[in-house]
Amino acid sequence: MSERMEPVDCPGNEPAGAPALNDGAAVEGADDWSAAEAARYLDRLLNEGHERWEGDRCPICFLLIGLPVEEHSMMNACCTKRVCNGCNLAAEQRGIYDRCPFCRTPHPTDHAAALTMIQKRVTKGDAEAIYHLGQYYYFGRLGLNKDVPQAIELLTESAELGSLEAHYSLGQMYYNGEGVEEDESRGIRHWWEAAMKGHVSSRHGLGVVEYNEGKYKLAVQHWMISAKMGDKDSLNEIKEMFMEGQATKAQYAEALRGYGDAVEEMKSHQREEAKRLGV
Ligand SMILES: [Zn+2]
Ligand SMILES: [Zn+2]
Repeated sequence: MSERMEPVDCPGNEPAGAPALNDGAAVEGADDWSAAEAARYLDRLLNEGHERWEGDRCPICFLLIGLPVEEHSMMNACCTKRVCNGCNLAAEQRGIYDRCPFCRTPHPTDHAAALTMIQKRVTKGDAEAIYHLGQYYYFGRLGLNKDVPQAIELLTESAELGSLEAHYSLGQMYYNGEGVEEDESRGIRHWWEAAMKGHVSSRHGLGVVEYNEGKYKLAVQHWMISAKMGDKDSLNEIKEMFMEGQATKAQYAEALRGYGDAVEEMKSHQREEAKRLGV
């Protein structure tokens, strides 16, 4: 691995959120986490998930979608596929306005129709559809009444089925106590799960957690990973740390270079065109 990796077995370098002896134990065997186990886990956490997960890739052009993905793509209720703005523009230019550019199902005409499409996929056990339904309940969208317990249940099911977005949302809810009783360690463990599989916002969140605990070295390590995946917020955090003397100039330069490369790789003629036209 790269030189910036620090030895992880020194005291005080355990990841924030490592379960205490009497913790509620969502992680298997969490009851008896020793310092050595925490160090091994941290090693994995820092060495895995350096590539973005496949769910962040446009299913048409196969390029990774710009961050934040919500701004650079549209999710289609028919197939829950996120299509990038470039491919949406290309589809429109070919006269495909009224249907999904991926699976060609006609767009739902209203919220009720969109909800029906999502629910149909939910009954088939589609992790992403279950995630979206959970979000709709959480925020009370598509005509649903806000129902946080129902949302948490759906998001938990989705996370168990492998949705990294669901892990991320649960992480936010538990860490910040949004709609649920605050449980920081539980929130952090959801971010661990997703970050190790290449979920950028979860990785960014772990940097924030470590920074808030004063563990600047670890914070830089997390943010370096997410900056290199194209996350501007993480790059800015490292820049600020550099200005505060908490990160080195070399680290800031490395983050800047990595971020630039990631952004370059996400560019396409169609995407530039979409940006120019404000799609
Ligand atoms: Zn695309
Ligand atoms: Zn579709």
